[in-house]
Amino acid sequence: MKRALPFLLLLSLLSGCAPEPVSQSFFAMDTVMSVTLYDGGDTDALVAAQQEVNRLDQLWSRTRPESDVSRLNAAAGSGTPVEVDPDTAALLEQADRAARESGMAFDPVMAPVMDAWGFGATGSESTAVHRVPSQAELDALLPLTRDLPRVEGTAVSLPLAGQAVDLGGIAKGAAAGHVLEVLTGHGVGSAIIDLGGNITALGEKPDGSPFRVMVKDPRDSEGGICVLSLADGATCSTSGGYERYFEADGRVYHHIIDPSTGYPARSGLLSVTVVSQDPYWADAWSTALFVLGAEEALDLWREGPETVQAMELILVEESGRVLVTEGLEEGLEFLGEEAGYTCEIVRR
Ligand code: ADP
Ligand code: MG
Repeated sequence: MKRALPFLLLLSLLSGCAPEPVSQSFFAMDTVMSVTLYDGGDTDALVAAQQEVNRLDQLWSRTRPESDVSRLNAAAGSGTPVEVDPDTAALLEQADRAARESGMAFDPVMAPVMDAWGFGATGSESTAVHRVPSQAELDALLPLTRDLPRVEGTAVSLPLAGQAVDLGGIAKGAAAGHVLEVLTGHGVGSAIIDLGGNITALGEKPDGSPFRVMVKDPRDSEGGICVLSLADGATCSTSGGYERYFEADGRVYHHIIDPSTGYPARSGLLSVTVVSQDPYWADAWSTALFVLGAEEALDLWREGPETVQAMELILVEESGRVLVTEGLEEGLEFLGEEAGYTCEIVRR
């Protein structure tokens, strides 16, 4: 007993001295981001993470004239490839794969159509001028989509004059992948990376349990649909029509465009949440599956590309039905009942 006492004391001291979380919030990629460390306050790691996101923002912004994306867009149709940073080339390759595997539901060259709607035209929602483009205008712009950038090493070109890249549907996921690497490189073992609602977990909570994240109720920004556990390295990314939209003539127009029509996607979904070990895919596919709708999303999850089969999904339908794939069942806390939602677990 005499020997056990100091040991017990040490244990209680250890458990009592879990470090306070340290957090850094910043604005980048037109959204609010934060990185929180749970295993000690390495402020160098936080500074490095923010610097990395800013560096990527400078490469991938559509509004900074010197960015890789702006230079690429300015040279569209010129026949002369633009030299870009290797990270930009890598992202364009990932976007290319997401586009092909989703049958072009994810289309990284939708910028001209986005601009016609006033989404991202100025890069900042606060100053954007939203409008409903005419069918003739859309018909003229749609031929500029679908034709993907040519990437050869770090030399990139857009085949058609007037084309433009917009990486808004994948850039935050990519940035999360970079931040994960930065934090791991600094020896951080427990952190939450929240890049505008794309949430990535590094490690576990200090008590050894998995991090928990709340998926928002798409009809009520204050409320939640469910809470789920996020394994080490997993990203939870949500796309929904409720995030950026405007109203005209009594209709709501949101910022996720169906490339087959040029109109905001109307697939019967309010939101799609993807949980994936790959932050790129979580981001790109949450956008793509929102365009495709629940039925096709589940088909792809059952027998589509490997990347999609490896994901877990939460599909919130306009009907109020919430479809949750079976891999998320353990640890799922459903919160949507009071707001009229019903939860269904989907099996393979
Ligand atoms: P958010 O950026 O609001 O978190 P998403 O990840 O779903 O949501 O990305 C939406 C952004 O993706 C849009 O703002 C636009 O830049 C771009 N985008 C819109 N529609 C598509 C599409 N069909 N394919 C690829 N990117 C798209
Ligand atoms: Mg996305």
